[in-house]
Amino acid sequence: MIQIVEERSEQQQQQQYEIDGVSQRIWEEVANQYRQEIQSLQLQLWQNSVDKMFQKSNGVPKKFLQKLKMMKMGKSNRQCSICCNQFQKDELIIQLPCKHIYHKCCVDSWLQSSTKCPNCRSDVLEALKNQEK
Ligand SMILES: [Zn+2]
Ligand SMILES: [Zn+2]
Repeated sequence: MIQIVEERSEQQQQQQYEIDGVSQRIWEEVANQYRQEIQSLQLQLWQNSVDKMFQKSNGVPKKFLQKLKMMKMGKSNRQCSICCNQFQKDELIIQLPCKHIYHKCCVDSWLQSSTKCPNCRSDVLEALKNQEK
């Protein structure tokens, strides 16, 4: 009777060991998957920051921004299409070559990522380059 009990417990130990071996393999696989995912996430983040850098250089260069007509707003009930707020008297505004006007701060940040007028989509940078000729 005692012998049988011992045999059983030996068998159980062996089974236990096998299960541990299997679960260890699974954990290694899971860990490897996570490692790969983290690596691809890091790659994506890096790619995103590179994209952003290139987007910034897609805007209008500073030396051209300085050529834009800047003026103070008089009385008007027109509104800036970038921030959708009405122009207030004495606010600094910029007139693009296409004659559309915007707040200076609004157009400054807009033209950092785009060269086109938010209203009529005409190319501000091209127009400024043509003025130079
Ligand atoms: Zn604005
Ligand atoms: Zn325009």
